Amino acid sequence: MSTLRSVYPRLWVADQDACCSGSPECAVVHACKIPCHQRAIGYTKSLAREHPNYLARADAHDLWLNLIDPPGPLFQLESFRQFFAFAAPRYDSGQTLRIHCNQGESRSASLALLLLSRHMRILPQHSYAGALAGYMALDPGCRPGQGLAQFLAQNWQLLDCGCARCQGAGASN
Ligand SMILES: [Zn+2]
Ligand SMILES: [Zn+2]
Repeated sequence: MSTLRSVYPRLWVADQDACCSGSPECAVVHACKIPCHQRAIGYTKSLAREHPNYLARADAHDLWLNLIDPPGPLFQLESFRQFFAFAAPRYDSGQTLRIHCNQGESRSASLALLLLSRHMRILPQHSYAGALAGYMALDPGCRPGQGLAQFLAQNWQLLDCGCARCQGAGASN
C-alpha cells in the first residue's frame, strides 16, 4: 500500500512503492540510497566518496540522493543544496514534484518541509521547530528520524535555498 500523499498543490510525498521515473509533468526526487541511488549509479554496498555522484545524481526529471536515515546527524549540507537546486526551479516552472524515500515518513517529508519553508516560504522560516510544527499540520504522516531532525535543527540557518529569488529575498531580511 503506497503512502503517496499530497502535502501541498503539486507536491507529493511518498514511500518506495511510489518510486517511478520522472517526466516533463512530474519531477521525482529519490531520497534514498537503497535502492534508488544505488540503482541510478550502479553500485552495491557503498560508493567511493571520490565518485562525482557520491552525494547525488541529477537528470532532467530525476534526482537521486545518497541519503540514509541514521540515528545520528550524519548528513552533509551539500545533499540539501543539491535538493534545492533540483526541486526549486522545477516546482516554479509548474512541474509536479514527487519526493519519495523508503517509508515516506522521514527523508522525503523533511525535504518537502525544507522546500515549503525555505523556498516557497509558506511555513515558518526562522527555526526547524517552527517549520516542523507548520508542516505537521499539512502532513500528519511526517515522522522525522532522530538523526535527521537533529541535523536540520542544528544546521537550520545554513539550510537556505540557493535560488536567485530566495537569495534576493534573503538580502532584505
Ligand atoms: Zn526511487
Ligand atoms: Zn529558492
